[in-house]
Amino acid sequence: MNYRHIYHAGNFADCLKHAILSRIITYMQKKDKAFRVIDTHAGPGIYDLSSKEAQKTGEWKDGIGKLREANWSKKSKELLTPYFDAVQAVNMGEKFDTYPGSPMITHSLLRKQDRMTVSELHADDFQKLHALFKGDYQVKTQEVNGWHALKSNLPPKEKRGVLLVDPAFEEKGDFFRMVRGAREALERFSTGTMCFWYPIKQGLEMREFNADMVNVVGHPNTIVAELWVKDTTHSLDGSGMVIVNPPYTLVNELRIILPEMSRALSQTEDGGWRVSTLVPES
Ligand code: SAM
Repeated sequence: MNYRHIYHAGNFADCLKHAILSRIITYMQKKDKAFRVIDTHAGPGIYDLSSKEAQKTGEWKDGIGKLREANWSKKSKELLTPYFDAVQAVNMGEKFDTYPGSPMITHSLLRKQDRMTVSELHADDFQKLHALFKGDYQVKTQEVNGWHALKSNLPPKEKRGVLLVDPAFEEKGDFFRMVRGAREALERFSTGTMCFWYPIKQGLEMREFNADMVNVVGHPNTIVAELWVKDTTHSLDGSGMVIVNPPYTLVNELRIILPEMSRALSQTEDGGWRVSTLVPES
């Protein structure tokens, strides 16, 4: 496992993922009943953007750096407030040098009755994650394989929940594991909201992934949201999220925020976005 997310924290792919995650959890807050967020590939939870690793790539400057400077419509600003507030909460005053990972963003949106379970396999990143939430009654940290965590944590005892599956895609076969994981998750928790993040790549593996997500998962009420910042000939010029059982409000919200995010993040005129229904509601 060579992948370290510190090199990529706050990049355009994180922006898409975290904006969507924040909208979904904000929707979960509408009912009093407790929910649990299960994050199978959680990372260390928080990132120092002034570290030599983050400085080396500077990817955050083309991600959250651009979103912070963008002009937003009133509606988009309102929809992105939970995400931007979570980012602001880990920074002191005017200084901007820290980015929250999915665990911190989720944590900022939990009410006292809600819980989260976060798994991470890299020993150093797990240690940081564990230290970050040590003693927090709402958070369970697990140093386990995320693909196993996906199965062992579903269904959550709250019976309401959000699953985030966000692997590194550094190992061949992660597309396959994602499809298998989606199927396993649905078998255990068919009513849950589930988010499966992926990089947009060219080639057969990508085409098979798309077809498999439709045919193998085949679950009614599944959408896909993608954002790419230039021609996607090279990997990670774009990323997407397959979302099973999204809040009914999400498609419309994404149609408001994604065009503006795309304008802010595009690196060439080939940048773009899409939100579409992968499998319609039955
Ligand atoms: N979800 C995080 C966020 O949004 O802030 C970023 C996660 S990063 C894309 C993927 C993480 O998965 C890395 O921290 C990596 O160490 C971890 N990882 C890789 N293989 C794993 C596995 N089999 N089980 C659990 N974690 C794994």
